[in-house]
Amino acid sequence: MATAFPFSAIVGQDEMKLALLIAAVDQKVGGVLAFGDRGSGKSTAVRALAALLPKMKVVAGCRYNCDPDRPAEFCDDCLARAGKGALKSAAVAVPVVDLPLGATEDRVLGALDLERALARGEKAFEPGLLARAHRGFLYIDEVNLLEDHLVDLLLDVAASGENVVEREGLSIRHPARFVLVGTGNPEEGELRPQLLDRFGLSVDVKTPNDLPSRIEIVRRRDEFESDTAAFVAKWTREEAKLRKKITSARERLPVVTVPNAAVERAATLCMKLGTDGLRGELTIMRAARALAALEGAKAVTDAQLRAVAPLALRHRLRRNPLDDAGSGVRVERALSEVFG
Ligand SMILES: [Zn+2]
Repeated sequence: MATAFPFSAIVGQDEMKLALLIAAVDQKVGGVLAFGDRGSGKSTAVRALAALLPKMKVVAGCRYNCDPDRPAEFCDDCLARAGKGALKSAAVAVPVVDLPLGATEDRVLGALDLERALARGEKAFEPGLLARAHRGFLYIDEVNLLEDHLVDLLLDVAASGENVVEREGLSIRHPARFVLVGTGNPEEGELRPQLLDRFGLSVDVKTPNDLPSRIEIVRRRDEFESDTAAFVAKWTREEAKLRKKITSARERLPVVTVPNAAVERAATLCMKLGTDGLRGELTIMRAARALAALEGAKAVTDAQLRAVAPLALRHRLRRNPLDDAGSGVRVERALSEVFG
C-alpha cells in the first residue's frame, strides 16, 4: 500500500479535517460529504486520517474485521470459532475502501464464491466491499453519480449497521459499520434528498486562493513525493500528538455532557431554518460533543455548537423560493440570530 500523506501536514482544508476528526471520534455522527473542485485533495485527507488512526484490533483471520472485544457483534464465522476455543486477535490498519461508480451489487454486498461452488460444490460466501470497510471508511468519489439501486443498498446498510445477503441459497449477515465519505460536484448532478440527509456533515473543499497557502502546499507535496520517508519522519511528532488527541477524545466522549441549553439552541437553530425531521439537531449535538471531547472540554458550549452547525446543517436546507441566498449564508444568518 502506498504511504499516505501525513494528516497534520495538510495545508488548509479546515472544514474537511474537522469533519473527519469528528467522525473519527464518534462514528454515530454519520458520514461526511465533501463538495468541491476536482484535485483539491479530498481523498488525500481521508487516506491520511485512516493512516493516522491507531491500528484496530480484529479477530485474526476474520474476513469481516470483527472486534474481539465485542462478541455480541460477531459474524457467524467468529461465533462458530469462539465456541471451539479462544480467538486470536491481530492489529490492522483502519481500512479505507473505495467504492467505484461502476461497482456491481455483488461486488458491494458480496456474493456466492463461484469458483468454490464450481470446483468443490460448496456454497461459500465471497465478502464484498462493505465487509472490507467495516470499522473503517467507505469512500465514494462522485457520489452524486452513483446508481440509485446502489444508493438504496448503502442507505439500508448504513442505517442498520449490518449487511444481509439472502440469495443464491446463501443466507449471510455480517456487521458493516463504516464512515461513509462521499465527494461530489453539485454542478454534475444533484444528490437525492434521502442520501443527503444520511450524511452527518457536509464540507466545502476549495483550492486555497491565497498565495502563501498555495506555495506551502506545492512545497510539501513536492517534498513528500521526492523523499517520502524523510517527509513522513519529519511529521511523526505532529502525527503522534494528533493520534493521542483522537484516542483521548474517544475515551472522554461518554463523559462529555450536553447541557439542556445547548440542545435547546441546536433545536431553535433547526426550527429557524426549517430543516426536515430531527436529524439536524441530533447531528449538531453529537458533533459538538465529539468536538468538545477533542478539545478536552467537559461540556458542550456555544463555541462548539457554532463550529459544527454549518457542517451539520448546510446540506439539509430546502430551497427557499423567496430567499436565493446560498445555504451557507442562511445558516450563518440563523447562527447570529440564535447566538447573537
Ligand atoms: Zn468475524
